[in-house]
Amino acid sequence: MANISLRSVRDADVSGKRVLLRTSLNVPIAADGSVGDQFRLQKDIATIELLAGKGAKIVLVGYIGREGGTLEPVAKALQALIPSIPVTFTTTPAADVGGEVATLKEGTCLMLENIRKEPGEEKNDPALAASLAKLADVFVDDAFPEAHRAYASNVGVASLLPAYAGLLLEEEVARLSDALVPPAQSLAIVGGAKFETKQPLLEKLLTVYPHILLGGALANDLLKARGMPVGESLTSDAPVPEDLAGDERILMPDDVRVQGETVRVAHTADVHADDHIVDIGTLTEVAWSKQIEDSEFVLWNGPMGVYEKGFVDGTDVLAKALVESNTKAVIGGGDTAAALSKFTFDPARIFVSTGGGAMLEFLANGGTLPALEVLKK
Ligand code: ADP
Ligand code: MG
Repeated sequence: MANISLRSVRDADVSGKRVLLRTSLNVPIAADGSVGDQFRLQKDIATIELLAGKGAKIVLVGYIGREGGTLEPVAKALQALIPSIPVTFTTTPAADVGGEVATLKEGTCLMLENIRKEPGEEKNDPALAASLAKLADVFVDDAFPEAHRAYASNVGVASLLPAYAGLLLEEEVARLSDALVPPAQSLAIVGGAKFETKQPLLEKLLTVYPHILLGGALANDLLKARGMPVGESLTSDAPVPEDLAGDERILMPDDVRVQGETVRVAHTADVHADDHIVDIGTLTEVAWSKQIEDSEFVLWNGPMGVYEKGFVDGTDVLAKALVESNTKAVIGGGDTAAALSKFTFDPARIFVSTGGGAMLEFLANGGTLPALEVLKK
């Protein structure tokens, strides 16, 4: 395992103390205003229970969605998940909420409103960090999905209080570190879009994985770079560098689902000028499923097709193959996690990261992220 040693919440003296817990509350909200998929919230519970069990007074800080979103429904959903730990919610800004925090009882939580409503958050404004630090005696960071950003509520406050990693953050770091030193029979699968954002990851993975299966819109970029027809398919503006395009350890799909006048499966040589490649094809599904089954370990980030438009087959078939295999895996990215959530599996064998961008950066950087640096022993 790559050696990243963080100060752990398990070693923190929190009994009777006010603890500021930065956690990932960014869950999807359904049309009726309730919380949809609770995957991230469920992952937040372990640290909250640990802190509450030790008699901490917990101030929860997180964000949701884009600007303007409120965490109020998230507080309700969290309360339903942990009925024995009282969860209240406040819209009072960090600078003024000290009085409310002072009335908190041991073993209870107060959730602050969406921290991105504070203009200083994403600027890592020292004034906001100081306001947050005044609310607590101890800081615990459990928010992996934002660990690749230096914000007031992670990096800023961590320099002002005794700061520790939460249980989920520790688990993310341990499992993703393992993915950087995979066993010999390992496989990396990378999909999704925006080749230029995944290029550093691909370059890093090539130093530790024997080969990479490339799907999603990324495959379109590689097919194009290798002189294959991609029709009207989505590709990146930035060209694929020659050394990557020519690297035979990066494997492309042999066939793809294309949307022309109808949707059909075509060999990659038979993509027409007006076609859109929307998913990997059926032969590729079978071949890549076999590769997953034959591997000891799989690292997978990003969907094989235009997932949100219903082109889910390639991603779902690979997810099923993984679940039905004995292969160990680390999975990340919103659509990939959604595909896995259709199945039941042992989380000790298949770890689904809460991070998308943070996971990509962690792996590409070989295990460093701004919010982790401030928690190192
Ligand atoms: P995630 O959101 O899972 O973290 P990305 O943002 O990197 O991953 O990529 C997901 C996006 O990639 C989705 O919006 C999906 O529609 C898109 N995508 C995947 N395959 C294709 C394709 N063949 N053509 C166009 N877009 C694609
Ligand atoms: Mg995305």
